[in-house]
Amino acid sequence: MSKIKYPYEYDPKKRKLAKIYSKGRLMSGIINGIIIPIIFFAFFYFSGLSASLRDIAMPTGSPAIVFYTFVFLTLIAIIQFPLRFYSSYTYEHKYGLSRYKLSGWFKDYSKSLMLFYLFTIPIIYGLFLLLPLQNWWIYAGVAYFFLSVFLSTILPVFILPLFYKLEPYRNKTHLKRLLSVIKSAGVTNVKGIYVANESAKSVKANALFSGLGKTKRIVLFDTLVNNFTPDEVETVIGHEAGHYIQKDIWRGIMIDTILIFPVLYIVSAILANYTSSVADIANIPLIFLAFRALDVILMPLTNAYSRHREAQADLFALETCRKPVAQASAEKRLVDTALGDHKPHPFVVFMLHTHPPAEKRVQMCIDWKRAFLRRK
Ligand SMILES: [Zn+2]
Repeated sequence: MSKIKYPYEYDPKKRKLAKIYSKGRLMSGIINGIIIPIIFFAFFYFSGLSASLRDIAMPTGSPAIVFYTFVFLTLIAIIQFPLRFYSSYTYEHKYGLSRYKLSGWFKDYSKSLMLFYLFTIPIIYGLFLLLPLQNWWIYAGVAYFFLSVFLSTILPVFILPLFYKLEPYRNKTHLKRLLSVIKSAGVTNVKGIYVANESAKSVKANALFSGLGKTKRIVLFDTLVNNFTPDEVETVIGHEAGHYIQKDIWRGIMIDTILIFPVLYIVSAILANYTSSVADIANIPLIFLAFRALDVILMPLTNAYSRHREAQADLFALETCRKPVAQASAEKRLVDTALGDHKPHPFVVFMLHTHPPAEKRVQMCIDWKRAFLRRK
């Protein structure tokens, strides 16, 4: 443990590299996550390809939706594949951030693709059961809420174990300390702390509070446990405990649910006014297009809310652990390890960032320490 340099200060070489790396990551994210899907959905719908695929699917009867959706999702997966592979394998290796073997990457990719089919096809199927109903968007909004609760509940017990070996935290003395932090933060009914083997995939460190009700748990990446000091890990736990105490998973679900109603209403208005039949499966790309576009429009709003919640969790960690030096050190180490941009352009933050920039998070620790010393 004593090998770990503490308190950590930014490595100027890494800061320089981070500027270049994060720019590339940003670009590939925008291209593969926004531009390519929007162009593909629009092209597929307006070119008439969607109607042709429907005509091929129709003779299969009621499984037509499943057939259509499967082909449609496969097409978008194929189109996104080259940049996805480049950005999450080649590019990450180029910057020394990935530890994936090619086979490991493909294994994880296949699993996430399977999950994509497993969830999207039934959702589309369910949507088409609702579409013929009047005011279908209201039912769809209610269904969205229950679906979000369901997914948040199964995430740590069904989805995370697909990608990680989760093992109970081993270091007994440190575990005691972490559990006491959690207890002093007021967190109850968390069964234990799990460690996920991220080191098989990358060098990036992370931690999460995940699950709802009985599935609630804390997961630390082994990259965090092994490369950060116990004090630093403690502040990360304090941050996660903040999410827990402030019920951020529920808040997130509520915000998303509130926003989904106007989104669904707009989609229903588009379908009613611009298509000849609302429940035509050839409308699927149009529905995807509308959702993606509205999602981009709402991104500044949802991300601002997320950044606000993250800042609150940081503040909670400061109040609970009272280790501002360790918390700032952890923040700097995290951003250096991941080659994150500690001071991104404000517009990029406004549009895309779910977390405050590292510079601000470190500043919060400094400000808190100053205020704390004055309080004493
Ligand atoms: Zn957080």
